[in-house]
Amino acid sequence: MTTFKGKTVLVLGGSRGIGAAMVRRFAADGATVAFTYAGSKDAAEALAAQTGSKAIRTDSADRDAVIATVRDSGPLDVLIVNSGFAIFGDALEQDPDAIDRLFKVNVHAPYHASVEAARRMPEGGRIIVIGSVNGDRMPVPGMASYALSKSALQGLARGLARDFGPRGITINIVQPGPIDTDANPADGPMRDLMHGFMALKRHGRPEEVAAMAAWLAGPEAGFVTGAMHTIDGAFGA
Ligand code: NDP
Repeated sequence: MTTFKGKTVLVLGGSRGIGAAMVRRFAADGATVAFTYAGSKDAAEALAAQTGSKAIRTDSADRDAVIATVRDSGPLDVLIVNSGFAIFGDALEQDPDAIDRLFKVNVHAPYHASVEAARRMPEGGRIIVIGSVNGDRMPVPGMASYALSKSALQGLARGLARDFGPRGITINIVQPGPIDTDANPADGPMRDLMHGFMALKRHGRPEEVAAMAAWLAGPEAGFVTGAMHTIDGAFGA
């Protein structure tokens, strides 16, 4: 595949899981790919070597570092913001600093990275942020901060679509349901509970999410912006 030949792609949070599948997909499709990571240096270096991509250590909780990395990697044809995490547990017992860090990574970084990327993004540029079906539906207790962070991305897409649309730049949210990664393994303790909410009784694969992102980043999706794209086996239906 050469769909993205000559295109420059940056994936924030690309060393493992869904982000690594994005790196593999865009590299295989001919793009020049860079990705960030926070802690998984060995995985990042191995992925970079396998795919010919560039690994950059940037903590998505560090606003200025995120902005600098986006700036120094540009001009970008495609920005994908994938870094994100959940905190589980009783809201009354949560460490407020940990919750604030979640908002920095899951909400602040997508906002600042998107704005910075758009400064020099050419017409036809694409911004894709990985949200969650939990932005639409949160059927269990203990994950309000995560649900809030993923709902916030819906407003991000709706608003920035208006800001950047006149320049031919699109922004979309991909909302996965349960996907088999280190963060949510298909054989984990929540498996049966999650599958009980779904029409397709399985975890999705990171490659399936990457395929949706590749379509959104490609020429066929030029009229698609400010929208949420759910890939969840009907978890949220
Ligand atoms: P993983 O925990 O498996 O991987 C997370 C990736 O993001 C890693 O590459 C990690 O890098 C990177 N990352 C995490 N925190 C930071 C940070 N502070 N700075 C830079 N990079 C960071 O997660 P998933 O692949 O499962 O999830 C990816 C995205 O998809 C998240 O936004 C998540 O909310 C969303 N999602 C996942 C679902 C699932 O079921 N798996 C369902 C719905 C949404 P490193 O290891 O180097 O820290």
